[in-house]
Formats: sequence, structure tokens, C-alpha cells
Amino acid sequence: MLVMSGKHGKKEDTSEIARDFEKAKAELWLLYEISNAMRTTLELEQILYIILTAVTSHEGLGFNRAMLFLVNKKDGALEGKMGIGPHSIDEATRIWKSIEEKKMALEDLINAYDNFKRDPNSKLHNLVKSMRIPLDESQGVLALTVLEGMLFEVLTEEARQRVDDKYLQALGMQYFVTVPLKAKDKVVGIIAVDNIFTQKPITKSDTGLLSLFANHAGLAIENSRLYEEKVYLSNTDWLTKLWNHGHFQAILSRELTKARENETPLSLIMVDIDDFKNYNDRFGHVTGDTIIKAIAQIIIEASRKKDYVCRYGGEEFSVILPQTTKEDANNIAKRLRDKVRRYAFPNQEIQPKKVFTLSCGIATYPHDAHDKDSLIRNADAALFKAKRSGKDTIVLYELA
Ligand code: GH3
Ligand code: MG
Ligand code: MG
Repeated sequence: MLVMSGKHGKKEDTSEIARDFEKAKAELWLLYEISNAMRTTLELEQILYIILTAVTSHEGLGFNRAMLFLVNKKDGALEGKMGIGPHSIDEATRIWKSIEEKKMALEDLINAYDNFKRDPNSKLHNLVKSMRIPLDESQGVLALTVLEGMLFEVLTEEARQRVDDKYLQALGMQYFVTVPLKAKDKVVGIIAVDNIFTQKPITKSDTGLLSLFANHAGLAIENSRLYEEKVYLSNTDWLTKLWNHGHFQAILSRELTKARENETPLSLIMVDIDDFKNYNDRFGHVTGDTIIKAIAQIIIEASRKKDYVCRYGGEEFSVILPQTTKEDANNIAKRLRDKVRRYAFPNQEIQPKKVFTLSCGIATYPHDAHDKDSLIRNADAALFKAKRSGKDTIVLYELA
């Protein structure tokens, strides 16, 4: 309410309105800029980075530190995803000074995402990433922010005394605000912020802007998650959850390019179940599918983390092995063939060899082929040779 009491009072009120107006204008502009930045990507990690950069940069909301957690509904937990902020007052001063000297605007900081991605030493980020909080009332403020779907602020000494929370303690948070990130009515995560280094008090206006921003951020996160889920579904096979044929081709192209650039070998194993038609004709396709699914799982278990296991076609699989010589690929193929041989599949005694067996063909870049199509063709030729020589065996291309 304006109180027009004399000349002096009127002048003060007008300048206050002007100040409020300028502030509101700056805030709107900031929200507009951040929303625009978030629209430029659908990659979740990058969205999270933009959100936290906006919350911590001087041009943005200007908090010293910001941490973001996402809800994992399946596990009923809140998972730490990203933390941005220095871990000491010295580092804080250094970073802020450098930002000032380089005259870095919000846009420049957002564009520095690649540097952030490559920095494995961020202490706050690593600490946040290691946190997993069960979504239960007894787990403290961070979990409560999700469960209640509302903002919490601990801004006074009195409030601080009442908080006994091991997660906040681990993060060294004293005076802070936590805000839920909502997409429609669903809480997808939270942001926690503080001014641990400058000890600047967090004002009502700070929390107001943070809440407003949190709504944009929640929607952007949800969109990006939906998109990533769609991409994942379109690249995987519904039955085995392995990479499907289309994605196999894309991965092989990409990995061959890397192999060429780094001058490293790359091997390809083609796998085919022996005499599968025999089993299928007897027990039907639905039962046949359960065998394909079980064998897919065994191949995953027998391969390494860096390998790509794909469903090439019906009962054929392909395994892409980056940075792998033919000899090592042969050992892995032996491992997966033996694992399948030892597995107790139902009714497998009706198979010609009384157990399920695999035939494998292996070709290696650059030894056997220089491009994708000839690598596949040569691994296939080796597989064909394995079939002709009695099945349940592994053939390396050079001998094909
Ligand atoms: P070989 O030892 O020569 O490989 O003999 P095979 O009977 O396994 O023959 P082939 O590799 O040509 O396998 C084709 C058979 O695999 C035809 C079909 O019965 C079965 N099959 C192919 N795709 C699927 C699938 O998606 N589900 C099921 N249940 N069976 C499939
Ligand atoms: Mg086949
Ligand atoms: Mg077969």
C-alpha cells in the first residue's frame, strides 16, 4: 500500500516502485534467458547443469552452492545427481574473480558445460553423486521436500538448532533452502541451495525467485526424461532388452570411427543358436522366446562392461568389442559358448547335442576389414564356416 504523505514520502515511494519494477524486469529477463537455454538441449545432464548454473551464477540467482537430487520412483529414493559450487572459500574467491575478470555472462557459463563434464575432481559434485536418500519422513529435510512437495527454509539460528539431519551434515549445510522441482503435480526432484562462503542471508525475494524458477526446471527435467526414455525404447529390442539391429549399426559405425582415430583394434562376434528351429517346432514360438531371452542374459553376463551386446535378428546376436584383439575376442566367445552349454534350459535334451549350443564367427578391425559392411560380412562368413564344420564352435575369420 502506498501512503502519500507529503512531498518527501511520495518521492521515496516512487523510487521504491521504480526499483521493484527494475528488479521484476531483471528477474523476468533471467527466467526468459534460462528457459531459452533449457530449450536448446534434451540431454538430461546438460539440463541439470544449466539449472544449477542459473541458480549459482552471479547473473542468475547467485547462491554459493546448489545441489540437485532426482526422485527414483522405482526404488523409492532420492538420488544425488549434480552439485555446483566451490568446496572452500579460497576456491570460491578464485572462481568468482576469474568469472569477473573474464566478464563471463550466464550464457558463457552455460557453454562451459563440456569443461564441467570433463572435471572428475569436483568435490561437491562427487559428494552429491554418492548420496542416495530413502523417501521416508524419518530421513530428514531433503526427503521431506519431496514427500510434502513444498519448500523448506532454515534461515535462523533457532531453526538450525531444530534440524538434526545426517545428509545436510555431510554437505555442511547450515542456513539453506530446499525447493521441490515439479512437473504438473508430480515432484521429480529437489534443489538445495546455500551461501556457505559469503554467509549472505537468503531473502524472501531469493526464495520467491527460486520457487518460480523451480517450476520451469521441473518441466524441463520431465521433458528430457521422457525424451531419453523414448530414445532408449527405440534403440532396444522389446524381448531381450538388448540393443536392436538399427542401433547395432549405429554403434558399430561410431566405434569404428573411434578405433580408426585411436588406432586401436575392434572385434565383432556374430552368434547364432544351433538347431533352434528344432526346439521351436516342438515347443512353439512363445517357449522359444524364453530361450532367446535367457541366452541374451547369459551373453550379457559373459561379456564385459565396455562391450555392446545386440540382437542382430531372430535368434542371432552380435557383440561389438571395442579395443579388443581377435585373441581376446576369442576368449570372450569361448566364455559365452561354455556358459550357454552349462546352463540348464528346460527340455533341452531334445536338441541334437542334448544341450543348447552356439556357433560364433569373429572378425577384427583392422586385420580382417576396414569398413563396417565388410567387417559384418567377414564375421558372418566365419559363422557360416562354424555351422558347416559341425556347429558348437568358434571360427576366426582368417581361417574361414
Ligand atoms: P542352425 O543350427 O543352422 O542355426 O539351425 P537353426 O534351426 O537355428 O536355423 P536358423 O539359424 O536359420 O534359425 C531360424 C529359426 O529360428 C527359425 C525360427 O524357428 C527360429 N526363430 C528365429 N527368430 C525367432 C524368434 O524371434 N523367436 C522364436 N521363438 N524363434 C525364432
Ligand atoms: Mg539364425
Ligand atoms: Mg540358428
